Amino acid sequence: MSAIRPLSDELITRIAAGEVVERPAHVVKELLENALDAGASHIEIRIQRGGIERISVSDNGSGMAKEDLRLAVSRHATSKLDEAQALAQGVFAVQTLGFRGEALAAIGSVAKMQLISRLHGKAAPGAHGIAVTGGKLVPVRAAAGAPGTQVVVEDLFFATPARLKFLKSERAETLAIADVVRRVALAHPGLSLMLLEDGKKRLHLPPHANLAARLGAVLGRRFLDNSVAVELNAETGADEGAQKNAPRLRLVGYAGLPTFHHANTYWQYFFVNARPVRDRLFYGALRAAYHDYLVAGRHAAVMLSLSLPPQEVDVNVHPTKAEVRFRSAARVRSLVIGGLRQALHAAGHRATDRNAHRALAAMRPGHAPPAAMQFAEGAPASVQELCEAQPRFGAAHSDADFEQPGRASLAAPTPDSKAQSVARDLPLGLARAQLHDTYIVAQTADGLVIVDQHAAHERLVYEQMKAALARKAVARQMLLVPEVVELAGGEADLLLERAEELAALGLVIEPFSGDAVLVRETPAMLGEMDVAACLRDVAAELASSGQGLALKENLDSWCGTLACHSSIRAGKRLSGEQMDALLRQMERTPHAGQCNHGRPTYVEMKLADIERLFGRR
Ligand code: ADP
Ligand code: MG
Repeated sequence: MSAIRPLSDELITRIAAGEVVERPAHVVKELLENALDAGASHIEIRIQRGGIERISVSDNGSGMAKEDLRLAVSRHATSKLDEAQALAQGVFAVQTLGFRGEALAAIGSVAKMQLISRLHGKAAPGAHGIAVTGGKLVPVRAAAGAPGTQVVVEDLFFATPARLKFLKSERAETLAIADVVRRVALAHPGLSLMLLEDGKKRLHLPPHANLAARLGAVLGRRFLDNSVAVELNAETGADEGAQKNAPRLRLVGYAGLPTFHHANTYWQYFFVNARPVRDRLFYGALRAAYHDYLVAGRHAAVMLSLSLPPQEVDVNVHPTKAEVRFRSAARVRSLVIGGLRQALHAAGHRATDRNAHRALAAMRPGHAPPAAMQFAEGAPASVQELCEAQPRFGAAHSDADFEQPGRASLAAPTPDSKAQSVARDLPLGLARAQLHDTYIVAQTADGLVIVDQHAAHERLVYEQMKAALARKAVARQMLLVPEVVELAGGEADLLLERAEELAALGLVIEPFSGDAVLVRETPAMLGEMDVAACLRDVAAELASSGQGLALKENLDSWCGTLACHSSIRAGKRLSGEQMDALLRQMERTPHAGQCNHGRPTYVEMKLADIERLFGRR
């Protein structure tokens, strides 16, 4: 063995760099954190070739003075840590995202980095720049630039080529960057953010007034529609109860309804003091809170943001600061579980029995009488008028009328007595009518059931698809004539890229020409469907929200899209047999009682309730 020699500074920096920047997304994360620490309200990120070729982050934050540039890019130099305090307390009670003073030095040691910065104010001198290429410094010089800071990183890992081999595809790196930006966006609703990929806008977020608005913009309306707000405050540690102003813990966010579940943890976002984290404590708490509600192997969608005094949490556990340690971990854990449980408990009512009560309440006497019973104003309704109104009202029941859209349609005329005896064995009863081409009214042994045909069908498709996927056998049916579907620019490519996945889910497509694709087969369980409309929706969804997300992992949304274009959507006239078939299928299918969004697919009213409505009880 050779003699022991100290490593050069350059090598030390490069070794350390391996921990901080493993991939382009880490560079973006560090640069975003610096911009946030500098108080920026607007940040623009531009990337090329998944950030491997070029990353540029510009902010309108404080900027740096000319004489600080050199220090900014040197190792272990930071403006964010009070050394005396840090040494005295042992824990880094930091209010900023950065504090280790190594990101810029690390990036500069493995890439070609340029930093241009300018202070605010009329009196401030112009912009200055500094460059670091593979650890070699190019001295400070005057440059052009607006107040704030721009950092450009080119040829990432050119100085450590071995690293390049570990990178995933450009697409995967882009997705990882988008994920970092999304997390920052969620942590700072008021921040204006723009992400451009190869010159094209990928994400453009104006400042939002509140968390809900930002969540809707970043994760989509579906997340908001399918989640409940979480808000809980607590004191830290009971042992400090004597202290008058015990520091406060605060948990805010949104918890997805148990029915809005996913195959992976993609939809889980956690923040501690506005710092995105992936901490075990949260995953554990989540499992505990959803234990009673969630199907095994599925994951809830949540966004939780915890604030607590900085001295209560140690963020210096991990070079990328993704993990944290809490001083009173048990308390934090129980706060998170408590907050989620409380929210879910409230949601449980919303999704189930309260609906029936609401429906009943709406029907109670005292509400405006039905239109057919309202008479010309002023004139008191005489018996005579009522009698005259009767035949007109009754005429609506002729069969001819039922053929017109917008009227009720009747199921196969089963004599009432027979219906009652048959219905005895059928929990959802026998279909008696369809109202507004959307609701099926069925007679049960002791009451009536109103089914939302669209919601019910969506759920059936979902459950069947899940079962078929588990058997690895989604039955497909060949279209008699393959259908050519014209799509908007780029959508065809997007779909064809996922052709294999689509085929596994029952939809077989082939390239046609330019912006068109050819559809050959569709999922058999859907029967006849509007192929073109469906495909356009799928393409749009892939383009906007589901980036990189496997379709199977977004199954409920996928099934929702499919069901939307099949023959049983809302506003579609059904025959008596079709209605009964739907009811029987619902009875056979597990979890058919709530739709994919946690709303009920049917409401039931007992005769006793109806009798109560009429004051018979
Ligand atoms: P850290 O953020 O941990 O302090 P960095 O290497 O990321 O370490 O940055 C070093 C220093 O450079 C920071 O402490 C800060 O003073 C300065 N700096 C970096 N980026 C910016 C920026 N975008 N705006 C203003 N100052 C910055
Ligand atoms: Mg930093």
